[in-house]
Amino acid sequence: MKTKKYLFDGSNKCQLNDIPTNSKEDDVDKESILAETEKNLEKIAILQDIFYADKREGLIVVLQALDAAGKDSTIKNVMSCMNPQGVTVHSFKQPTTEDLTHDYLWRVNRCLPERGKIAIFNRSYYEDVLVVQVHNLQKNYSMAERIISQSEKKFFEKRYQQISNYEDYLYENSYRVVKIFLHVSHDKQKERFLERIDKPEKNWKFSSADLKERAMFNEYTEIYNTVISKTSSTHCPWYAIPADQKWYTRYLVSQILLNELEQCKSKYPKLSDEAESGLMECRRQLVNEK
Ligand code: AMP
Ligand code: MG
Repeated sequence: MKTKKYLFDGSNKCQLNDIPTNSKEDDVDKESILAETEKNLEKIAILQDIFYADKREGLIVVLQALDAAGKDSTIKNVMSCMNPQGVTVHSFKQPTTEDLTHDYLWRVNRCLPERGKIAIFNRSYYEDVLVVQVHNLQKNYSMAERIISQSEKKFFEKRYQQISNYEDYLYENSYRVVKIFLHVSHDKQKERFLERIDKPEKNWKFSSADLKERAMFNEYTEIYNTVISKTSSTHCPWYAIPADQKWYTRYLVSQILLNELEQCKSKYPKLSDEAESGLMECRRQLVNEK
């Protein structure tokens, strides 16, 4: 499985600068990857049907990335193979005033899927240790002195721990959380931004604020290294995958999703003997209907 080298399960530290942003190192051929992706999507569709019927686990797929890494198009292309009844997509934007009057997991809790469903988080509570840390937004939060007076380091160390605890809690309540970082290069981000500016149908995707974030590319990379290293575990792993070629990103995401669904070992619910004989009785009635 080609996703192994991109896996962080708590046993290794993340150094994004050592992780490729394209498929070159993997020596793959685009045609076969496209074919494999199609096969994966078919398998995911089958497994999702069983997962939905089984209702014993819930799956949360967290997608994190810098701008223009391809989160939206990954959601559009990979998740489209699934039955929409069993999937929800939540985009976590800047918190509203109401969100900010609560703890940062408040808005997240409201988006947790019921068991049997898959929730895709387009950004997530990880923003509360990423953008918030890069811009020191916590300084303007209305919180008690005992919180505000802590050093930044301590404040975010605690948040890493809270996030790990939260994900453990979810896992222990029959949820799986898999986190995917789309690793785009600085050059590719520039190329995609220019495309968003040059193509009128893509203008809506660009905001001048994106350039301000781009200026902090290295700061984000450093913080992602820490965040991924500190919040990876065997049961709630991170994957940091190449994002410069969308066809390869889609393949890897399909592989990760398939792997998670396979690990669930879902089964169609089996009827009790009593329910089964009831079903047979209904069958008899239908067959004998005049
Ligand atoms: P986009 O996903 O490109 O539509 O942009 C959403 C924006 O909301 C990004 O710039 C995020 O960094 C920002 N955002 C998401 N969550 C938070 C948060 N908790 N605090 C501040 N900004 C956030
Ligand atoms: Mg954006």
